[in-house]
Amino acid sequence: MSNLITVKDKQFKPYISSEIILKEVKRLAQEICNDLARQNPLFVVVLNGSFMFAADLLREITIPCEISFVKVASYHGTSSTGSVTELIGLTEEIGGRTVVIVEDIVDTGVTLEKLLGVLEKKNVKQIKIASALLKPDAYKKDIPVNYVGLKIPNDFVVGYGLDYDGQGRNLKDIYVLA
Ligand code: 5GP
Repeated sequence: MSNLITVKDKQFKPYISSEIILKEVKRLAQEICNDLARQNPLFVVVLNGSFMFAADLLREITIPCEISFVKVASYHGTSSTGSVTELIGLTEEIGGRTVVIVEDIVDTGVTLEKLLGVLEKKNVKQIKIASALLKPDAYKKDIPVNYVGLKIPNDFVVGYGLDYDGQGRNLKDIYVLA
């Protein structure tokens, strides 16, 4: 099939076009503007995967806001502390603020749960979560994902910021393993 693409050693087929993604992203931006007007929300963009979603989403945000880019680093502490999660890059004072986490995809929710664990210690006013994609069949956490672009089955996808072994993030459409 000519519309298959190869990323590294695997073949992927077209799954969600950029037009459909952008339509949903605009809808999310509108919802966020309606909900969070006058709150000067701080968008916390979780790199690397969210860069493309964040750029599209934030261009459609028309209320006053601020944007910060973070990376989540997990490392194993001593056996008594278990795995420790650190947020790299968050220099803003976030106490008392409305924070919107911007994620590429929520799969099992483990990453999101760790991120929330870190942010909740900082006395924020409220935390909202925006994710371009959600896999409802894999997501078993109670944390509500407030703004979801598209719900997808439990398949591995690339493109629109998401990579396969470092490649494919630049693709403007989303592809699924063929
Ligand atoms: P979770 O902690 O929710 O299980 O996984 C979240 C992370 O796993 C995402 O931020 C992303 O990096 C990665 N991930 C989950 N599903 C996919 C997928 O279908 N494709 C790609 N490329 N990464 C995924």
